[in-house]
Amino acid sequence: MARLVMKFGGTSVGSPERIKNVAQKVKREVEAGNQVAVVVSAMSGETNRLVDLCKQIDPVHDQREYDVVVAAGEQVTTGLLSMALQSVGVKARSWQGWQVPIRTDGMHGKARIDSIDGSALIAAMEKGEVSVVAGFQGVGPEDRIATLGRGGSDTSAVALAAALKADRCDIYTDVDGVYTADPRIVKKARKLDRITYEEMLELASLGAKVLQTRSVEMAMNHRVRTQVLSSFADQPGTLVVDEDEIVEKQIVSGVTYSADEAKITLVGVADRPGIAAGIFGPLSDAGINVDMIVQNISEDGKQTDMTFTLGRSDLDRAVALLQKQEKSLGWKRLVPDRNVTKVSVVGVGMRSHAGVAHTMFKALADKGINIQAITTSEIKVSVLIAADYNELAVRTLHTAFGLDAE
Ligand code: ASP
Ligand code: MG
Repeated sequence: MARLVMKFGGTSVGSPERIKNVAQKVKREVEAGNQVAVVVSAMSGETNRLVDLCKQIDPVHDQREYDVVVAAGEQVTTGLLSMALQSVGVKARSWQGWQVPIRTDGMHGKARIDSIDGSALIAAMEKGEVSVVAGFQGVGPEDRIATLGRGGSDTSAVALAAALKADRCDIYTDVDGVYTADPRIVKKARKLDRITYEEMLELASLGAKVLQTRSVEMAMNHRVRTQVLSSFADQPGTLVVDEDEIVEKQIVSGVTYSADEAKITLVGVADRPGIAAGIFGPLSDAGINVDMIVQNISEDGKQTDMTFTLGRSDLDRAVALLQKQEKSLGWKRLVPDRNVTKVSVVGVGMRSHAGVAHTMFKALADKGINIQAITTSEIKVSVLIAADYNELAVRTLHTAFGLDAE
């Protein structure tokens, strides 16, 4: 007997038929003797619809009321799935975030989970009842509904698995696992049986959309064995686990990309203390995250060029903010560029193998792809390139690191 948290995403519960299919999957785990808690997303498209309603009422709405509206999608799914389970003879009941309770910091629209009291759910599981818990929502310090940010139900599931001391958290979605690269781009991409928390965290934050980054952080911090698998196929997915559970280590486990990038170059900024702080201070105050930063060595000791990347959706705002500082920073030209993409290779094997960056740069050079910026960490190398070369770069690196399926 194991204790499981099963999480079903929007497409998995996208219609009454699909909800009935999910009920069968849950029933099978219960009949195998497992204790089960389920976390659900809103039916696909529903959260977007609710967000849009808020915008139609008032583009600058009260975030606390926004949370009341958008959390409703998950509430509907918990009720429907509980009914579906009952109708196939499985004892079940729905739980909203405030009923569990799932306590958050109350930052409406992007709340973080502070604590989960698992006792009521454990008592329910022990008497053989399936708890169907609303993902994406909790309650703030003032007992008002708070949501966790888009895609947050993955985080709900992993946090619940940690609180319930579950043996595993199964995240059912519309893909059958984590791949060595996006299979829509790389025909020879392979599904990974296992991947480490560290690698999954890098992949998620570097653009792989399969799990919400924060959920992976949570899984890593609490050592929750997490499986990504399809709700439409009957086969094991990818297990996200500790490094020592991985027998066959690859140097590079995956290639990923993020197309949501933009680049700003400030040509001819003064080369003196305080300039970087003057550029990045206002951006960070405005909540704009800067990623790669390249500052050239100044030739004459007076002026230099500064290039950095940021999210494409923040580009216009960042340009406007920097233009306000034009006098104090005194650059010659500000050059924004939307036509960029970030391609990364990730693998814990890099810690013990030299030459990964060289292999990467050489493979790209052989295809005539110019690298505009580079960042590295212990287990990843990322390069910024022209967006037009995105697919070619991903395929080239997949082959160069021996990841292609036979
Ligand atoms: N329903 C929410 C969203 O669409 C949360 C989730 O699906 O994870 O963002
Ligand atoms: Mg989702």
